[in-house]
Amino acid sequence: MRFEISKVLDAIEGRVCTDPSLARAVVDLAEVIRWQDLDGGRPASLLRLGMVIDALSRQLEEDSVPVYAIVHRALLSDADLTSNERMVVRRWADDGLVEVLDQPGDRMLEVADLLGLPVLSRVRFDGLGGRWPWLGQAGRVLAPVPGAGGPVFIAHVGGGQTPASGSRSPAGAKLLARQWRCPEPGCALFGGGGGGGAFADLARVDRAPAGQPPPTLRNGVPSCPRHGARLGDAGPRPRTAVLAVRIGGLVRRRFVLTETQPVLVGRAPDATGGVVLGQWLNDEARRWISRNHVRFELRVGEVIVTDTSTNGSGVRPGGSMAEPDRIPLAPQQSRVVGEGDLVELYPGVQIGRADKVTSDAKFSPTSVMAEAPTMAMRLPRP
Ligand SMILES: [Zn+2]
Repeated sequence: MRFEISKVLDAIEGRVCTDPSLARAVVDLAEVIRWQDLDGGRPASLLRLGMVIDALSRQLEEDSVPVYAIVHRALLSDADLTSNERMVVRRWADDGLVEVLDQPGDRMLEVADLLGLPVLSRVRFDGLGGRWPWLGQAGRVLAPVPGAGGPVFIAHVGGGQTPASGSRSPAGAKLLARQWRCPEPGCALFGGGGGGGAFADLARVDRAPAGQPPPTLRNGVPSCPRHGARLGDAGPRPRTAVLAVRIGGLVRRRFVLTETQPVLVGRAPDATGGVVLGQWLNDEARRWISRNHVRFELRVGEVIVTDTSTNGSGVRPGGSMAEPDRIPLAPQQSRVVGEGDLVELYPGVQIGRADKVTSDAKFSPTSVMAEAPTMAMRLPRP
């Protein structure tokens, strides 16, 4: 039982992040874990975060959807959680996967404002519409409530059930154009040391600058939400492009491309940071697709694909599915990927810019709760 819960928590760990390019909604973990009516279980449970993530995935019709979690520091010693759950949250905090704060205040709304993300919360936020006008827009604040097949979302204002993203606020766009350094050594959010202390080199997290979370604004000054310290400006943030993988008509995951880090995609890429497709492929696709099938690079804002496979791939200009339009890409050949283009590794296995790739098949997402023993659905394993 313990083992299975650990597996669920590991699966949930893959769905929490503070990367502005990947997070799809903001939650306050202290609130989520206490939604006892979702499962009728213990007063607090980390598994409820998994249930909410699954609900988000169903609503967005995408797999591997991550949330940005704000964590009140008190939660790290909350006796209503199991010691295992507390340990897991501490690990997420140390790795910068969640944002731990002494006083969260309205940080959840600030993150939602800066990043243009929807908020999953049961709080009504009455009277805050002056400061955050988007609170009144449909899909920007949704309350997860119990439903037949797991949580469903309802809106306090504006109606609608589908979480809606807006654009980053002007302040957010400005903050996310730069990279930041926290003077606190080993800061998990704005790491790299920066303080120049004797142990700066030992900082556990040397976070990729492109994935840094948005700073908090304190009297207009960019500050570390965790340490309260004024952040140093470490220059322009590297450019990024967000790509999405669609397999069998379903968006399976997104990944971020930066100018400093090419990304290999294939059946089981050798490099760390590679995008592994193996688990979603049928036998024929697995035979066709190489371990390292294609490499994506970002050069002066252009996405370049290079075929690194044995069997080759193809590009579908503008996403056209008409066979005569498909441009073959021979092994070792490179090509610029246009705005709406899809790179096709094998029929039905496509990669393109995340905002142009949507699921077009009936969606049944992979649940992070598949191993959860507390769930009513004890489906036989295939
Ligand atoms: Zn810090």
